[in-house]
Amino acid sequence: MKIVEPWIKVEKFDGVAIMKRIERACRTCYRSEGKVTDDSYKNLIKNCITRGHESVLEHEKISIRAYSDIGVYKDLTRHRFASFSVESTRYCSYDKDKYGNEIKFINPSYIEDEKIYEIWKKTMQEAEKGYMEMKKQGGATDMCRLLLPHSTAAEFTMTANIREWKHILSLRTTNHVHPAIRQILIPLLKLFKEEMPEIFENIEYDEEFNPKYYAKLEIEEF
Ligand SMILES: Cc1cc2nc3c(=O)[nH]c(=O)nc-3n(C[C@H](O)[C@H](O)[C@H](O)COP(=O)(O)OP(=O)(O)OC[C@H]3O[C@@H](n4cnc5c(N)ncnc54)[C@H](O)[C@@H]3O)c2cc1C
Repeated sequence: MKIVEPWIKVEKFDGVAIMKRIERACRTCYRSEGKVTDDSYKNLIKNCITRGHESVLEHEKISIRAYSDIGVYKDLTRHRFASFSVESTRYCSYDKDKYGNEIKFINPSYIEDEKIYEIWKKTMQEAEKGYMEMKKQGGATDMCRLLLPHSTAAEFTMTANIREWKHILSLRTTNHVHPAIRQILIPLLKLFKEEMPEIFENIEYDEEFNPKYYAKLEIEEF
């Protein structure tokens, strides 16, 4: 068994270019294409959001890849307007060389109590032991996966349009949300706030959540 850290990778994007394309689409409504200036998108987008004219945000999308636990994608896949491709526990057989012949579990670093952490760790070891024993007895991956706990590490790709990201990030970065989700989505929200303040600046998140728990965020070409 290996205890690993979560990460999030965001496809390279240009926030201003995204907002300018949203402006271009939105101006169709008022046939005000002639009013475009270098920074006219700022007021236009802010006004749209204030009035609830948010469908214009659906013209643009961003994809991310994340390495987190099964519990995270279980919750995030409830968002019906996002698209997901998730590492399959039915097909990925963790006893194989490709996976290092072991199961990886996401480190719940936010469990600060040492005794509780040790109970977690011991239980993960037991789960892995059972999985490998079932495999040795010829158990199908489909059956062995019944033993995989929420902490099992899994990769997923998620794509959403800007309106849905705004919605997801406003729901999923508060202190009501599981820390494993806050770990990956607070850094994402902070990036979006920097790159597209006119859209994301008013979204509140759990500022008390210790940044030492944030997942590493990288920008990458998809
Ligand atoms: C803190 C927290 C705790 C939660 N606890 C639980 C729980 O205990 N059990 C549980 O089952 N779920 C729970 N959820 C999941 C939650 O109920 C939603 O299913 C999930 O957050 C998806 O959000 P959404 O419905 O806004 O959907 P999205 O699919 O992201 O949709 C975006 C928006 O589109 C609109 N929309 C989409 N579909 C419809 C529709 N059919 N009819 C009308 N409007 C629609 C809504 O305005 C919706 O907000 C929890 C979520 C959070 C954030």
